[in-house]
Amino acid sequence: MNILISNDDGIHAQGLRALADALSNLGEVWVVAPDRERSASGHSLTLNRPLRVTKVAPTWFTVDGTPTDCVALALMGMINRKFDLVASGINIGGNMGDDVTYSGTVSAAFEATLLGLPAFALSVVARRRVNFTTAGLVAIMVAKLIAKHGLPSNTMLNVNVPNCRPSAIKGVTITQQGRRRYDDIIVRKVDPRGKAYYWIGGKEPTWEPLEDSDYAAVMAGSISITPLHLDLTNSSAVEELQGWEFPWNDVSSTRGRRRATA
Ligand code: MN
Repeated sequence: MNILISNDDGIHAQGLRALADALSNLGEVWVVAPDRERSASGHSLTLNRPLRVTKVAPTWFTVDGTPTDCVALALMGMINRKFDLVASGINIGGNMGDDVTYSGTVSAAFEATLLGLPAFALSVVARRRVNFTTAGLVAIMVAKLIAKHGLPSNTMLNVNVPNCRPSAIKGVTITQQGRRRYDDIIVRKVDPRGKAYYWIGGKEPTWEPLEDSDYAAVMAGSISITPLHLDLTNSSAVEELQGWEFPWNDVSSTRGRRRATA
């Protein structure tokens, strides 16, 4: 089995090494990762400048781009291999609920899904003293199961692991994306040259109490596995919006007049 690994914490991240070590038990591992931390880069693809690739070990490469760039390059011909699986992580910090659209870790797996390969993203829900042993074992289990069952079409697995030793894990729960309560703040400060700058931040997130959610599973000590797809359509809202009347004819006929008076 040929396995491609990427992440958003960058080539030097301990979690990347842990994921590569774990999955090397199952096949040949290739690593293509950002040359620095690119957390919260979402599904960003670099189009307005060239990308430079540096080989740092026989099957390890860095890219001066995003996690999505890394997976796209690797799967679209930079590496002359047919990959069977793509894994992203092991991220320090959970990627749950509404946060998944910000996540470079999740987006790297999404990119693989778009390019037709089975993929999963793996995160440990902790910021410090992260136990990569448990998450490494989870990676092996999930990779084996994907090899055995395949994945439903257009679907990747978003895996979040509690930060504890393997024996303390309570089980595995298939979950839904949870709902975060946003309490981010913007800090405004003044730099040494007298110009204002802003920094987006906040305390640890709080969460809606949803029973089947990724967050609830992890809080209960379980490994959370959420099947995700890229279709963001809110199907339940389609019918309601179809009931709206869209006055396009009125809008388009006033356009000329507005320009004349501008
Ligand atoms: Mn990260």
